[in-house]
Amino acid sequence: MALVAVLVLVWSAIFFLGLLGFSFWYGNQARARRKGIQAGVAHTHKAAEARYHELAKCGHAAAYRAEQCPHCGAAVEISGLPATAQIYCPHCQALATRPGGAPQPPRDEAHYRLCPVCKLYAAPQTFRVGYVAFFVVAIVRSFGSVECCHACVRPHARGYFFKNLLTLVPAPLGLLQVLWAYLGGARFATAFKGLDEANTLSHRKQLEPALGHYQAILQRVPVSAGIKYNCGLTCLRCGDLVRADQFFVAALADCSNLIPAMHAREAVRSMRAG
Ligand SMILES: [Zn+2]
Ligand SMILES: [Zn+2]
Repeated sequence: MALVAVLVLVWSAIFFLGLLGFSFWYGNQARARRKGIQAGVAHTHKAAEARYHELAKCGHAAAYRAEQCPHCGAAVEISGLPATAQIYCPHCQALATRPGGAPQPPRDEAHYRLCPVCKLYAAPQTFRVGYVAFFVVAIVRSFGSVECCHACVRPHARGYFFKNLLTLVPAPLGLLQVLWAYLGGARFATAFKGLDEANTLSHRKQLEPALGHYQAILQRVPVSAGIKYNCGLTCLRCGDLVRADQFFVAALADCSNLIPAMHAREAVRSMRAG
């Protein structure tokens, strides 16, 4: 009985210390990313200016078009592209809905961008995941950080949960990782609610269920190049090239400078032609 009480006490202490540690870690990572983005904004304006002079030299100054990203303030060059409801910022990698572009643009769209791991539109973060194992006096410790979306980190969090459970004491750390992976992301977001589940279905190549989830999001956010891009990428990965092409075209109709959608559309068209 006393042993159980000690274990519960130790678990509670580890859980709350872990919670504090994860909060500090998350806060620091988010601040570092914001600082990194802000530090590079001036460079984007210099690059845009250089591009203007380049076009002016060839007598095409009138063709030059650039806008300021509403999220980070970077200059985004869109010369030669039609004006669409959304704009993609290659600097902060977020999509922004132009004023008047949609009736109710999501308030938190600055948090969403393409996941560096699965390339789907999501809310990626830097996660710190791993396990601790005690063997009498020896401690095996393996922690690492990975930048990805919640759908990508969930299988790792589940695996580490069981590894942390092995020697009982670090079990709360495993639980915290699972909670972070499952309760964060788009779960509480109003507009993009269900996006992590849709992306998980996309990872599993369950085409129709994934498209059903994406369509439910599009009912709430009809102007969303990111969600349409996810539909296209899911179709492409499942071998449905006809619908993939249609979704990439629809994504570009919402956001003409969404570079990954341009590349994906070209890849689909060359696959269909070949
Ligand atoms: Zn930006
Ligand atoms: Zn991902």
